Amino acid sequence: MKTVSFYDTKPYDRDYILAATGAEGIRWHFHDFRLTAETAATAAGSDAVCVFVNDKLDRDCLQQLAKAGVRHAALRCAGFNQVDLTAAKEFGIAVTRVPAYSPHAVADHSVALLLTLNRKIHRAHNRVREFNFSLAGLVGFDLHGKTVGIIGTGKIGRCTAQIFRGFGCHVLAYDPFPNPEWAAANQITHTAFDEVLARADILSLHLPLTKDTHHLLNERTLARMKPGAYLLNTSRGKLIDTAALIETLKAGRLGGVALDVYEEEEGIFFEDHSHRGLLEDDELSRLLTFPNVLITSHQAFLTHEALSEIARVTVTNLNASGSWLDGTLLT
Ligand code: NAD
Repeated sequence: MKTVSFYDTKPYDRDYILAATGAEGIRWHFHDFRLTAETAATAAGSDAVCVFVNDKLDRDCLQQLAKAGVRHAALRCAGFNQVDLTAAKEFGIAVTRVPAYSPHAVADHSVALLLTLNRKIHRAHNRVREFNFSLAGLVGFDLHGKTVGIIGTGKIGRCTAQIFRGFGCHVLAYDPFPNPEWAAANQITHTAFDEVLARADILSLHLPLTKDTHHLLNERTLARMKPGAYLLNTSRGKLIDTAALIETLKAGRLGGVALDVYEEEEGIFFEDHSHRGLLEDDELSRLLTFPNVLITSHQAFLTHEALSEIARVTVTNLNASGSWLDGTLLT
């Protein structure tokens, strides 16, 4: 029976992974802290580690894992920017992930954020609970006829684009590897990145974080967005230069910003900091002061269907012994 150290455990993780563990069993060691170079020693005696988006498997951490006898890092997420793959290969640690679990979960959440922000549902909800039934300040806009820009038309970007088509939006998209058949079938136009920026009333990011896409939205590219546009990011926080975003918001150049991810979310998102009554991150604090900014704590994946599929694929990856010993990323 394999022994697996499971990091950044939340109650729902434990429930779903235990339900997915087959009859042959896995001996789980659940830790509520994240895996980093500082905590890697806790994996001693484990065959594998199971990690999520904010664990940090850099060279130092991976070297310690290898010394501790760990041969497999099973990511229970799609993105793998938190792992130094070159170092993993060097130290003989295989890396697996869950490439697709429910693109619908993330697409639904992206659209939910936009609808909430545009139609001010969060503000209306707070008002009526205090018996304030005034509509002042709650004016939104129709989605029908608006232009949506989708950056990255992979699994999630395609779902999101199709939902917006259902609302009667025009959809422009940018992806270095476009899918012309899908675009034609859904009346979606692939065009240059700059043109999407300039024409989109709503811009939604659905691409991975890599060295090339880090700060894709920065002072220069934010300035190219259509004045008054809405920006949605459910992909990775570091796609956006937060300092530049704050300056753009201060200048009143964006209609709204909805974020499910934040550049420095590690150690903040997924945790309850309310008892402390303060937030040490100045940029996040500043973002929270804008009435046209809506933030959720990296919850776009959090549906029953997605959690079930993440658990099923993670257990399958962990049980696929023998095929993961060459240190490659299995997809
Ligand atoms: P995917 O691999 O199916 O699609 C990504 C697409 O981005 C691909 O078509 C690729 O060609 C494109 N791309 C790459 N570089 C690009 C660039 N510079 N400009 C435009 N497009 C580019 O991935 P997916 O399943 O659709 O997931 C997208 C992202 O969503 C993931 O990388 C992950 O970071 C994020 N995600 C977030 C959550 C959440 O809970 N918030 C959950 C799952 C995934």
